[in-house]
Amino acid sequence: MEQNTILFVNLPGKSTNADRISAMEKILSNIELTKVISKKDKVAVKTHVGELNNTTHISPDLIKIVVSKIKEIDADPFLTETSTLYAGARSDAITHILHAYKHGFTYQKVGAPFIMADGLLGNAEIEVEIPGLLYKKVNIARDAVLADAMVVLSHPTGHIVAGFGAAIKNLGMGLCSKKGKLQQHSSIKPFIKEDQCTFCGKCITWCPELAIVEKNQKAFIIKEKCIGCGECLSICKFGAVRFNWGIQSVELQKRMAEYALGVFQNKKGKSIFINVLADMTRECDCMNIKQEPIIPDIGILASCDPVAIDQATLDLTGKRNGKDIGKISYEKLNPEIQLEHAEKIGLGLRKYKLIEI
Ligand code: SF4
Ligand code: SF4
Repeated sequence: MEQNTILFVNLPGKSTNADRISAMEKILSNIELTKVISKKDKVAVKTHVGELNNTTHISPDLIKIVVSKIKEIDADPFLTETSTLYAGARSDAITHILHAYKHGFTYQKVGAPFIMADGLLGNAEIEVEIPGLLYKKVNIARDAVLADAMVVLSHPTGHIVAGFGAAIKNLGMGLCSKKGKLQQHSSIKPFIKEDQCTFCGKCITWCPELAIVEKNQKAFIIKEKCIGCGECLSICKFGAVRFNWGIQSVELQKRMAEYALGVFQNKKGKSIFINVLADMTRECDCMNIKQEPIIPDIGILASCDPVAIDQATLDLTGKRNGKDIGKISYEKLNPEIQLEHAEKIGLGLRKYKLIEI
């Protein structure tokens, strides 16, 4: 498969798990895995197990098919993830792994061990040099660098800051250390618009860093404590939590693309990206809420190029719904920025050839 070729298997608008399993089998049987993965390679299978109440993440039933294909060529797959920046069910290796088991990502079910790429506390990292425009060095999760090959399974969704998240986000945010995540989020600091705050207190109990307190019967964000996770933005029903959307979204998307390059750089020709365009929701799978899909299912895509596959994802969702998943989720944000920047720094190509199978 050429670098920017995209394989595509269609799904019905309301697909069942059985439809998705058969689509995944079909797409994998059309990929010559041995051209990317060699015998005895240690293969990182990156996925997202979903936050506690998330139900729309990629099912372990699909991951199991990928694992079994990798094993057929006598390579050694492991499921992998990294710790979140915010406190919660996935903030260190122990809680994250136990939580992954609860969501069905067990060895018994999937057939591969779950190994945290960034170690026990999210600080096992390797500094990788990149030819970026913002960074010359990025902090990547150690075992993502040490793995011989990777298969990155992404669930495209809208995103509260980036507008859209799929393969580039899964690489850039999903496979860096905590230090890397903090570096990407560092300029994102929300603030409270006092006249809209009813002081319901929800953001105060929700903030994972206890960065929101009461001040004059209104919520108040202590900037020094805030890690920029964006949780308070989604939880406030009164629009009182504000954010400098334009600038900060642009900045985050560019940073994410540069971090994605740090992960991908030593695995060009050794990576496969699979985007599962089903159960696509407004918020990403990191949000601790049950969500309903906002557009019909489309299909499964596979490529060797993280930029091409995300561009095809935006295009397909746009063609079918009039607006792409990013625009439907967050109209004011421009998710194309991550793609433009990614192409500029050499992460991949936006031009692609779609082959429906
Ligand atoms: S959730 Fe919104 S309205 Fe409620 S306290 Fe926080 S900022 Fe104020
Ligand atoms: S972004 Fe909001 S929820 Fe997240 S740490 Fe800052 S104040 Fe707390």
